[in-house]
Amino acid sequence: MRLALISDIHANRQALEAVLADIDRQNVDAMACLGDIVGYGADPIACIDLIQDRAPVAVVQGNHDEYVAGERSLADINPVAGLATLWTRQQLDEARRHWLASLPLTARVGDDIELVHASLLDAAGWMYVRFLDDGVLTMAAQKARFCFYGHTHRPMAFRQRDAGVEHLQDSHYDVETGDRWLVNVGSVGQPRDGDWRAAWTLLDTDAGTITLHRVEYDLEECMARILAAELPERLARRLALGQ
Ligand code: ZN
Repeated sequence: MRLALISDIHANRQALEAVLADIDRQNVDAMACLGDIVGYGADPIACIDLIQDRAPVAVVQGNHDEYVAGERSLADINPVAGLATLWTRQQLDEARRHWLASLPLTARVGDDIELVHASLLDAAGWMYVRFLDDGVLTMAAQKARFCFYGHTHRPMAFRQRDAGVEHLQDSHYDVETGDRWLVNVGSVGQPRDGDWRAAWTLLDTDAGTITLHRVEYDLEECMARILAAELPERLARRLALGQ
């Protein structure tokens, strides 16, 4: 099976369209989405509709999807995210907000693949898995051979082989019998690893490979859309930096 994994679209329509076109060139069998479809960017409706049209094999909820879908107070999230959340709530109709609210926190694809936005250790707690210790803790809660996640917007992987867990930051991994994997698939719409290009990940279970793909998109159009929507200017500027 060739499974495309996308995450952290953040209402960036230009990046999502570029990634979907790239996925179409890769002859995949299925696509899964790991959440944060909305929040920060200027095109939440288009992004929700593009994802729904693809009929992904699974979609899990991200923290921004939860913020936008719910009524919760935004007092404890950062002010820029709070402003973007309020703006996004105003854009979405009841049906789309309800769909975001209905998404599960975790999902399974077959026996071997688990999906979560942040961490299996505490799926509703939005923990950040960035360092080796985070990976070790999360893998202790991982039942399947593969877990894919997002949330940090930084592609990376943790490989458990024999007794140890290694922290890896490559764009291609060969999967060997007996390995267990926890893989951050990168962010479509707001990468934070210093590379502005949209990211997605392809798992090929027959070839035994996990590959990170990067795709250029119309950054200027995306930034202009954010400014025209009067969202915080920083949300446009950071896209060009990949931060
Ligand atoms: Zn995110």
